[in-house]
Amino acid sequence: MAGVCSGMKQIYAIGIGLIGGSLAKDIKRLDPEVVIHGISRKEATLNEALALNLIDKKATLDDIHKADLVIVSIPVDATVALLPTILDKISDHTLVVDAGSTKEAICKSVEDHPKRRNFLAMHPIAGTEFSGPSAAIDNLFLGKTNIICEVEKTAFKLQEKALKLFEGIGMRMRYMHPVAHDKHIAYVSHLSHISSFMLGKTVIEKEKNERDIFDMASSGFASTVRLAKSSPEMWTPIFKQNKDNVIETLEEYINNLIQFKALMEGDNFEAVFKEMKDTNHIRDILNGII
Ligand code: NAP
Repeated sequence: MAGVCSGMKQIYAIGIGLIGGSLAKDIKRLDPEVVIHGISRKEATLNEALALNLIDKKATLDDIHKADLVIVSIPVDATVALLPTILDKISDHTLVVDAGSTKEAICKSVEDHPKRRNFLAMHPIAGTEFSGPSAAIDNLFLGKTNIICEVEKTAFKLQEKALKLFEGIGMRMRYMHPVAHDKHIAYVSHLSHISSFMLGKTVIEKEKNERDIFDMASSGFASTVRLAKSSPEMWTPIFKQNKDNVIETLEEYINNLIQFKALMEGDNFEAVFKEMKDTNHIRDILNGII
């Protein structure tokens, strides 16, 4: 499919890890005429991205006045710090999108910026537990949802270009207020990561002197702790930015765990059965989504 970038030929990817690198791969495959310029903190990361053909050229922030599109895929605290500078440096026609997993603080960081209309806030709901350029894969976004926030604050022409691009790589758009986004995502993403990290911790601590026990680890254990392999560099800023919502979800989750334990202590296995039976309803909810 040619032309998903509709006139946006000079693309600057700030952050070329899992998300930035996977976006670069899809864009380049679908629109081979684009030139992808990579920007990163570390030279080694840029060299790796070049070697993997994720980017065509290395660049710096001082080059982004030449950009048609800037894609920001760095940790959310770094995005908040850098986004105003990025908007300061772009031209009037440049579209800037970010892929951050939280949206309220990012939208707030540029709410009064004179170039706010050049920015589109989004969260592609797609990922893996891996990070860095080598984690980038084709079609990561195919069939996935892209949450767009405050679309009305982006210039209409730039909205159209962004829509064409993200529909072109196979995403379906959903529109949400940043506050609502952060509240909902705390339940469906942030809590799952914390529960996976703490499950991993619980088992590692208990079994540290019995490495053989991991031979008994079933696929259930492996799939439940998969997210515990995720990058702390990426997740700590997310939990910090979404602290209040995440604490609320944790309180509800901890209460459910305490309640389940109490049912076990009271030998109330009828209620234990019912808890699990009621939760099987998740199959109907997720059917067709996952
Ligand atoms: P990643 O694979 O770890 O890549 C992060 C990139 O950001 C690297 O190129 C790294 O380059 C750079 N970076 C790291 N710390 C930085 C800092 N303090 N300042 C500037 N650059 C920094 O991460 P990712 O999974 O692609 O995540 C990128 C963004 O997408 C995050 O905002 C995340 O919330 C969001 N997101 C992630 C997922 C997911 O499942 N992973 C899904 C949707 C959205 P250097 O090596 O040069 O530092």
